Amino acid sequence: MKRKADLVVTNCGQLLTLESPSPVPRRREALASLAIIENGTLAAHKGKIVSVGSPGQVEGAIQPAQGCIEVDAGGAVVMPGFVDCHTHTVFACYRLDEYEKRVTGVPYAEIAAAGGGIAKSVRDVHEMDEDTLRSVSRERLNKCISHGSTTVEIKSGYGLDLENELKQLRVIRDLASESSADVVSTFLGAHAVPAEYAGRSDDFISLLINEMLPVVVREGLAEFIDVFSEIGVFTTEEAERILRSGIEAGLGTRVHADELNDTGSAEMAVRIGTLSADHLTKISSKGIERMAGSPVIGVLLPGTSFGLPSLDFAPAREMVERGMAIAIASDFNPGSSPSESMPMMLSIACSHMGLMPAEAISAATYNAAFVIRREREVGSLVERKRADFLILDCEDYREVPYRFGTNPVKRVFMGGVEWNGDLT
Ligand SMILES: [Zn+2]
Repeated sequence: MKRKADLVVTNCGQLLTLESPSPVPRRREALASLAIIENGTLAAHKGKIVSVGSPGQVEGAIQPAQGCIEVDAGGAVVMPGFVDCHTHTVFACYRLDEYEKRVTGVPYAEIAAAGGGIAKSVRDVHEMDEDTLRSVSRERLNKCISHGSTTVEIKSGYGLDLENELKQLRVIRDLASESSADVVSTFLGAHAVPAEYAGRSDDFISLLINEMLPVVVREGLAEFIDVFSEIGVFTTEEAERILRSGIEAGLGTRVHADELNDTGSAEMAVRIGTLSADHLTKISSKGIERMAGSPVIGVLLPGTSFGLPSLDFAPAREMVERGMAIAIASDFNPGSSPSESMPMMLSIACSHMGLMPAEAISAATYNAAFVIRREREVGSLVERKRADFLILDCEDYREVPYRFGTNPVKRVFMGGVEWNGDLT
């Protein structure tokens, strides 16, 4: 029987389906497999994909419903929307003074000692009322969408007390309910030890586990919990304790791991079975080996290394060749990576981290969906998944990373509906 369709997209010069023979994250050679259909057609109904293939195959499989919308992609590349699985999009202000200092060589420690860094963003969130925070965050989320992100994970972590963490999480919840994008919420109360708890991190961890976490869970404000495991922030042992409390409370776990130093956090992530370990700029060879033999996905954040001139790039090529599953995200935040552009992240991942364009695209869509447990819904253009896709301003997908600093996204569709926001 033919399936009904209310949207048909024809003339897709390269239709990147990322169809996969098995429902697991891609590794090694499989990462470069985009399952491209030349001159493909895609049909959807009520927001879900119902048929993908050659024009003849799709025509034979579907029955256009009354009022079915036909879109001619004009020979352009059509691909899944980006799944940006690691962002800090809900923040109050950019940190321009700090940027000026950083590019002229002032060390981060000095900036932080003068009240800059995460502490500055925490003060900014404390000072901004919830309505204003929601409206500036909404504009930023729209910028993410205009650069092709149709699923966006957002973390709290600029509140660091119950009242302000909840304020950030409520803003994320509101964005999730009003935006066409799929917004996913993560509780990152353990982003830093607040100044008033300096030298008393145990007290702060108790507050986090015993007072903040239960409220966050009771109010259904987060699906995941994340921790910044780093020297001078939370030790690997402290991070493990916080994450285990998150598991007990029913949340999925993530960890900011081995970013500035190799602290063995990647190994800890494998030990407790987090969904991902993110950053991994300084991961050890042993850490790569452990992760390669585990389901934990390494989330690489190229914008952070690009934005912090002192930071190395994560060894992405080695990770892929040794069998690690990797994803790519923006880490959009007002400090190290003030960019919402996933195409730019792909450019950096290819030019500075040795990934091939096809690998970078898989990592930023198909694999990234697993990090936030959305692999059955998004990340590839196959039957039953959400019709979240992009029509690009190019005829070859390799242009996406190649033409760095430009936005190749021409049209964005989410749930089978074209986004009518501003693409400039
Ligand atoms: Zn982050």
